Amino acid sequence: MSKRVIVVGGGIAGLSAGVYAKKCGFDVTILESHSIAGGNCTSWRRGDYLFEGGMHWLTGSKNGEPVNKLWRHIGALDNSVEIHTREPFAQYDYKGTPIKLSRNIDLTMWHLAEHSSKDFQAIRAMSEAVRRVSKLYMPISDLRGVKATKKQRIPASLAFNFLTTSKMLKAYSKVSREEYIAQFKHEGIQETFRAFVEEKSGFFPFLMTFGTLARGDGGFPEGGSLPFVQRIVDTFERLGGKLLLGTPVERVIVENGKAVGVMVAGQRMDTDFVIVTTDTMALEQLFEVPPKASWLDEMRRETRPTMCVHVALGINADLSAYAERYVWKLEEPIKLADETIEYLGFNNYAGDTTYNPPGKTAVTIHLTGNSYDFWKAAKAEGCYADEKQKIADKVIVAIEKQIPETKGKVEVVDVATPLTYERYCGNWKGSWMTEMTTDKMLKMKPYPAVIDGLSGLYLAGQRLMPPGGLPVALMTGRMAVQHLCKDTGKLFVSEE
Ligand SMILES: Cc1cc2nc3c(=O)[nH]c(=O)nc-3n(C[C@H](O)[C@H](O)[C@H](O)COP(=O)(O)OP(=O)(O)OC[C@H]3O[C@@H](n4cnc5c(N)ncnc54)[C@H](O)[C@@H]3O)c2cc1C
Repeated sequence: MSKRVIVVGGGIAGLSAGVYAKKCGFDVTILESHSIAGGNCTSWRRGDYLFEGGMHWLTGSKNGEPVNKLWRHIGALDNSVEIHTREPFAQYDYKGTPIKLSRNIDLTMWHLAEHSSKDFQAIRAMSEAVRRVSKLYMPISDLRGVKATKKQRIPASLAFNFLTTSKMLKAYSKVSREEYIAQFKHEGIQETFRAFVEEKSGFFPFLMTFGTLARGDGGFPEGGSLPFVQRIVDTFERLGGKLLLGTPVERVIVENGKAVGVMVAGQRMDTDFVIVTTDTMALEQLFEVPPKASWLDEMRRETRPTMCVHVALGINADLSAYAERYVWKLEEPIKLADETIEYLGFNNYAGDTTYNPPGKTAVTIHLTGNSYDFWKAAKAEGCYADEKQKIADKVIVAIEKQIPETKGKVEVVDVATPLTYERYCGNWKGSWMTEMTTDKMLKMKPYPAVIDGLSGLYLAGQRLMPPGGLPVALMTGRMAVQHLCKDTGKLFVSEE
């Protein structure tokens, strides 16, 4: 008889853990509260438009990258899935002049130099930094002591690259956004960086992202979130796994220091092991006695939530002339909770028939910043819907001003707030990633997947390694199953 595993949550971490555990011979049931799987990795249809909610660029989309092997192992990607890498990947509109950032770093360098030859030294230094960082891909390693069909080792060349770039990375990690920008004299280039680099996180995360894109990774799998998730679900079910949708877990049952089952709709479901993949910051909700661990305390202390108001618009106009990610400076900043939004940008799906019919365009805008308490208060005061409408109106006015062909053409409006993410995915403060601190990023060390003194329980999910995102969900799902294999003496079935 195979050992039974219950996975709580059918987001990317839960589905990944499910496939890995099935391949290792466990009897796996995933319990997902929502009516579809995928969690934050999702899209939704409104009228003629499909709005992409959770995937904009994917680490490991490039064939040959270590994380790509993992995506293929769980069935998320295969040779039939086209990967889009549109160019430029971002464009800033500087008083009507486009400033473009391309994956091709030489192209970016010469393009920026054309705007400002007097900034050439600073532009060249930036290009060189991106080039060096582009050699730092995400490594895959195995849990010490796990028996695996094939060991994943960190290549010596990657270790060497980390070693030789660490000094440069540390230096960049200490530079604030404004200090970095001050090296450039051209106002448009300064504004471009101001628009794409978060003030609180500094230049470092932007550099890492740019490096990933410059390597040819960070593409967009055709069709986005929904087919991506469906391919993993299909793989899981083909292997004999059970996915129960609309099945919220109320509680994990712990007896004598061991997780032995879960409560669903007041009924007990017994199991041998439980893998919890819901937001670790909200872990206590699933336990009668909240689990205790010093690393959980550290996580609670250090986690700064990344969240957004997601404004999705269906526009009856073809915006193919605009970049995939198009940003400009607002004449009048938009106020949202405690944030002042000075730059507005959208993800543009023009020309992609998955998202909109020909001649029409779906755009999505992420207004990031901690607005959770604002929306909570609006809900309590009964003005939640009004506030959503107000923010949508401000965004529409700003877009119409910047792009006159959209005037009067917005026909669908959909606003999701942090409360929406909290309601649908159970995320702590509706947050779907963790703010990056350079310190954590340089360490790249995940929080443990286990809690001392509580056996039979494994944890996975975006929160276990800042900044989170899809590859972290995947890798932590994999790691939870490595712990499971190690504890049960099973052979871990590795990626080929
Ligand atoms: C607007 C936006 C843009 C993003 N862009 C990117 C991007 O470009 N690249 C990238 O890598 N990442 C991106 N992300 C982040 C990424 O989508 C998430 O980090 C990732 O999907 C998290 O996966 P997860 O499985 O860890 O958690 P979740 O997606 O939160 O999954 C948890 C699952 O558990 C379920 N659940 C919760 N409570 C219970 C319960 N009690 N019982 C049963 N089930 C339960 C939830 O319904 C959910 O399905 C983006 C996210 C958003 C919202």
